[in-house]
Parts: sequence; C-alpha cells; structure tokens
Amino acid sequence: MTTAHDGLLTIDLSAAGDNYLALSRRLGRGSRCGAVVKADAYGLGMSKLAPAFFRRGCRDFFVATLDEGLALRRLLGDDAAIFVLTGVRAGREQECVRAGLVPNVFTLQQLRAWMEVCDQAGIQAACGLKVDSGMTRLGMTADEFGRLLRDRGLLSAANISVIMSHLACADDPQHPQNRRQLDRFREAGERLRDELPELQLSLANSSGIYLGEEYHFDLARPGSALYGVNPRPGEENPMSAVVNLSLPVVQQRHVADECWVGYGATQRAEPGSWLAVARGGYADGIIRAQGNRGCGWACGQRLPMVGRVSMDSTTFDISGLAGPERAGLAHIEVLNDAVTVDEVAGYAGTIGYEVLTSLGHRYTRRYTGS
Ligand SMILES: *Cc1c(COP(=O)(O)O)cnc(C)c1O
Repeated sequence: MTTAHDGLLTIDLSAAGDNYLALSRRLGRGSRCGAVVKADAYGLGMSKLAPAFFRRGCRDFFVATLDEGLALRRLLGDDAAIFVLTGVRAGREQECVRAGLVPNVFTLQQLRAWMEVCDQAGIQAACGLKVDSGMTRLGMTADEFGRLLRDRGLLSAANISVIMSHLACADDPQHPQNRRQLDRFREAGERLRDELPELQLSLANSSGIYLGEEYHFDLARPGSALYGVNPRPGEENPMSAVVNLSLPVVQQRHVADECWVGYGATQRAEPGSWLAVARGGYADGIIRAQGNRGCGWACGQRLPMVGRVSMDSTTFDISGLAGPERAGLAHIEVLNDAVTVDEVAGYAGTIGYEVLTSLGHRYTRRYTGS
C-alpha cells in the first residue's frame, strides 16, 4: 500500500542500474557500454539517473544538446566522456571546448569550424563524426565522407575520436536494413581507422545490442532499455521496470442508470457498474489516444479506462473489484511492472519512448534504490 499522495511517480534507480549492468554484460569483449541520458534521461531525471550509471562504471554519456552536456559535466565532473549527439551550433563551440564535451559533426564545414575554434583555444579538442549509413537523418553523406578521406591534411589535423551512426530498424531483427547499415558503417569505420588508428566505432542503440556482437563495436549507446523499454518488441522483456505511476482516486460512483462517460460521450457505462475518477490526465502524460482502450491497475487487476482521457483526470471501470477493495481504493496505477511502458504505448499507438518523455511534472517524484 502506498501512503496518501496527489500523484506519485516512483523511479527505481536500482532497476535502472541493473538494466545498465545487464546491457553491459551482453556486449562482446572489448566493447564498452555507454548511457544515453538525453531529454532529461528520457523524462526520468538526468541528475539522478546519470550518477546511478556512473556508480556502476559507466564513463561514456550521450546527450542531445549542448545545454544538456553542460549540466551533465557539472554533475559528473571530469571523469566522464560526454558526447553531444546533435552537435553544437555555430557560435557556441567555445563553451563546448571549455566544458570538454565531444560534439558530433555531420558536414565538412562543421568540422572545419570546430577545428578553427580549437586552434584559437590552443587545444586539439576531440569531436565525433556522425555518418549516415542508411537512416537519412543526421549524418555525413557518403559523398562528403569520401572527400574527407581524400583530404589527408584535414584528417591529420582533426581530432576525430569516434565515428558513429544510428540504426533505423534495430527493433526488427529481420529487417534487411540492419545488415545494409552494418556493412556500410563497418566499411566507413575501417577506412577512417586506417587513417586514425585511435578511432573508436559506435553503432548500437538498445535494440542494436540485441542484434548480435557484430553490431557492438567499441562503444554501445543504449537509452530506452536503461529505462525499462523492451529492446526486443514481441519477445519477453529482458529489462526491469523502472517507473511506477500512481494516481489518486478523487471520486467513485455507482452507475444507477445507463450513462455516457466523458467528453464526446464516447463510451456507455452499464447500470450497476462502478466508476472511479483519478486525478491525472493528458497534461500529465496520460496520452489521450489511450481513451477507451487503456487501463489502470489496482488490487492485482487491470481496470479498463472508460471514455476519453481529460486534461486533468481519467475515468476507470472498477466494477471488477470486490466491495472492500473498492471501499479502500485510494490510488490507481497507470504504469508499473504489470502495465508496462510498452503496453501503454500499444494503447496509445506510440512507442515507450514517448510514454516516458511525456510524463508530467505535477506528480511528486520519488527516487528509490541507488
Ligand atoms: C537516442 C539515441 C540513442 C539511444 O537509442 P535507444 O533506442 O533509446 O537505445 C542512440 N544513438 C543516437 C544517435 C540517438 O539519437
């Protein structure tokens, strides 16, 4: 039983730490496990999660933006390598150099700009090179990469410490795109390593780790699996659940006559049924598309959502509970180790990543474990 609260989001640092260790153990020899903590550690709190991974030996962290990187540097001190995945925009390179962050570059122009700033600062600060291996998102094109390889002067002056690329279909092991991207990335990495012997290669995200050792290279970049999202959709989840979200019940009612529940009157409640209204709606990350489809959890049972999710409240059918259970019902959980982020994502027509990063800030946040 939880004690009274107005909405409680519990984040289990030990579970996240266990997930980090489980992913590390899956990697082949010579391959290190980093941690992606972008977007405030997928909405769960970088200031708590990043140190938990650090305590378990993680020394390679990935953020999306420079500001995230600056905050992380203050948090972890100088022993962590911090990679800025989307790079640094013109004008902010010096801040990046001073904080010892490693920004990705995607174009030759960005690489030259980075080197110029480093020259002025008198340090050959490292950068990462992100290449496109088939996702057609961020990444140096094959054409520009070819020009880089032919420009020996540029290559010898640049301090490129890592080459990375991102998989588009890693959550679908059968997808032929995985092999195509692997082959292209390996070729690019090996050609660049011929010129830069210290270069490290990094390809795998969470799901990529489960595609097999060939995908691991020197440094893996898992994010979602650290936070409990299943890296192998459709198979048993090897990760531990990290979040529990419990909403307070603010009203219960017994349905006497047939009625229609919520905005749009989209769902009928049967006479004789019992409804509970919980505080917490789409403004709190209970994604609205779950309306009429999703469920909550109390007393070991799934409780169907009834009607649309409102901004601040969600209604559940609690008819399945026994009388004394109903009488004592103070909270309904909408995320836990039974109703997982992946299950909720299914109801909402989205992915676990979005369920996590949507979690609101009107809850009390409690961290357990260490
Ligand atoms: C977000 C991100 C990751 C982590 O991906 P997950 O699927 O969450 O493990 C890895 N690499 C890059 C470039 C990313 O943007």
